[in-house]
Amino acid sequence: MNYQNKTIVITGAAKGIGAACAKVFLEAGANVGLLDIDVISPTDKERSMSVVCDVSDENAVKNTIHKIKNHFGSVDYLINNAGIQRYGSVTETSSDDWDLVMNVNLKSFFLCAKYAIPFMLESKKGVVINIASVQAFVSQQNVSAYTTAKTAILGLTRSIAVDYAPLIRCVAVCPGTIDTPMLRDAINLSPDPAAVMEECIEMHLPKRIGTPEEVAELVKYLCDDKSSFITGQAFRIDGGLGITIAGSKK
Ligand code: NAD
Repeated sequence: MNYQNKTIVITGAAKGIGAACAKVFLEAGANVGLLDIDVISPTDKERSMSVVCDVSDENAVKNTIHKIKNHFGSVDYLINNAGIQRYGSVTETSSDDWDLVMNVNLKSFFLCAKYAIPFMLESKKGVVINIASVQAFVSQQNVSAYTTAKTAILGLTRSIAVDYAPLIRCVAVCPGTIDTPMLRDAINLSPDPAAVMEECIEMHLPKRIGTPEEVAELVKYLCDDKSSFITGQAFRIDGGLGITIAGSKK
């Protein structure tokens, strides 16, 4: 599909999956509005606009999405991607950490959709992609807030798909372990990061972890008109992580 004169808003675009999405859509000819709490230096000054924006802050989201619409003339696609991880079971998680994870990983998806969808309705077309996780289906220990937020994203995805059809589609993408700074930071918390990485590799059927570029290519396909019969679904890109029974090693 030709993305020329189309504008895509990507949250958490400074690194990892968000940065890979920005690259893929720029290469496809789109204008990209890049939101992050970190500063992003634009690789293409004409077709990219970077804004420092905490996506859990309603006023910041509203102003930023209006700014992007005014600059490029439309908002056609939204990739809700920004996310953080905090570790702990329910009894170990503080209320502050719970609220932080819910605000960044879930409320921001609602806020960005709330302010982007009216512009999509103006052009009578649009796609919202919500980056959830394989943890929307299966859970590991000590990520109670994260797994709860990721599961709720599937409900938000269905609601958007139902409420704004047929003009707007909404799809959730659920990655397994992907090689990003979030993953590297997580495994570096362990006294033996190399062993944790080996475990991650072993858990996936292709015997490797995924790349941000693989997720970005799926996101691009799901935005494309070629996938116009797909909405409200959750797509796993998880190297089979969600279909194996623990202990079923050869
Ligand atoms: P990352 O930490 O590498 O990048 C996340 C980006 O989000 C960072 O640039 C960060 O600055 C930004 N961000 C964090 N809080 C923000 C806020 N309040 N406002 C604006 N930006 C903010 O993470 P990633 O691995 O690329 O993850 C991207 C998404 O994919 C997340 O939603 C994550 O939960 C999900 N995911 C990642 C994996 C994985 O293995 N890496 C697996 C499943 C799902």
